[in-house]
Amino acid sequence: MQLLDGKLISAQIKEELKVEVQKQIENGGKIPHLAAILVGTNGASETYVASKIKNCGEIGFRSSLIRYDSTVTETELLDKIIEINQDDDIDGLIVQLPLPDHISVDKVIETIDVRKDVDGFHPINLGRMAKGLPSYISATPFGVIELIKRYKIETAGKHCVVVGRSQIVGLPVSLLMQRNTYPGNSTVTIIHSRTQNLKEICLQADIIIAALGRPEFITADMVKEGAVVIDVGLTRVEDATKKSGFALKGDVKFDEVAPKCSYITPVPGGVGLMTIAALMTNTLLSARKEIYG
Ligand code: NAP
Repeated sequence: MQLLDGKLISAQIKEELKVEVQKQIENGGKIPHLAAILVGTNGASETYVASKIKNCGEIGFRSSLIRYDSTVTETELLDKIIEINQDDDIDGLIVQLPLPDHISVDKVIETIDVRKDVDGFHPINLGRMAKGLPSYISATPFGVIELIKRYKIETAGKHCVVVGRSQIVGLPVSLLMQRNTYPGNSTVTIIHSRTQNLKEICLQADIIIAALGRPEFITADMVKEGAVVIDVGLTRVEDATKKSGFALKGDVKFDEVAPKCSYITPVPGGVGLMTIAALMTNTLLSARKEIYG
């Protein structure tokens, strides 16, 4: 069993980005600038946004954090997005999810200028990705694919089972795994909450990508010998032994599944860090106008 080390690979990507930014600035190019909007005080969202801002600083990007109380109106938020869309200095804009119930996530995402949508959530980016056209690939699926690529894992002809069909993880990652390139060319099965013979399907998988948000759901009896297991899940569960009062759990019961795998991601230290590295890569692509010119 080999660990798919998101910590190591994301650190390598960050170093590569750092060098690229330095070169760009020396050649008179602009400093990439990421703006993040955070609504409310959700603990996990605070942590994710703080980490994104910190990573910008470490790589040499500029960043701006715009915070709103959870009482912000939808109109106020959309107006801010429109203002950022028109700000030529800002290359990428992310709005941290989840949002309060009175705000439409779809409206928010569709208001972001597709050229600044470095999270890749806009339907135009998702649609272009599905068609194989240049687009921002959403950060978590991009991180998963990059991890597979950097470990040179064979995907062609393999049966890839994606557990979860969300618009931000399951759906895009399944599209990427079936496309006609590397990583891809897998035979993809998508599992969701209505799937009946989930265990039997998982047992046929050469590659399992778990993104359902149910801590330790995937157990050893669901995984065949030699499978590749990629755990996207990230759930905070109470843990009195931790200073923070919680531990981060993946969707895979790591201790019992790992011995059966050829490769497996740890949680933490796997896909989460790759997601941030992918977001940073998208921000650089945007500053260079590589996707939309
Ligand atoms: P989501 O929107 O809640 O989607 C979960 C998906 O899993 C849905 O398609 C759901 O099916 C399916 N599902 C739920 N319970 C199931 C069950 N018992 N059996 C089969 N399928 C089931 O979640 P998400 O946003 O995709 O996130 C999934 C996990 O990834 C979460 O833990 C989240 O925190 C984590 N995540 C991590 C990162 C990262 O950077 N590492 C980024 C994003 C998300 P239905 O469609 O039928 O409801």
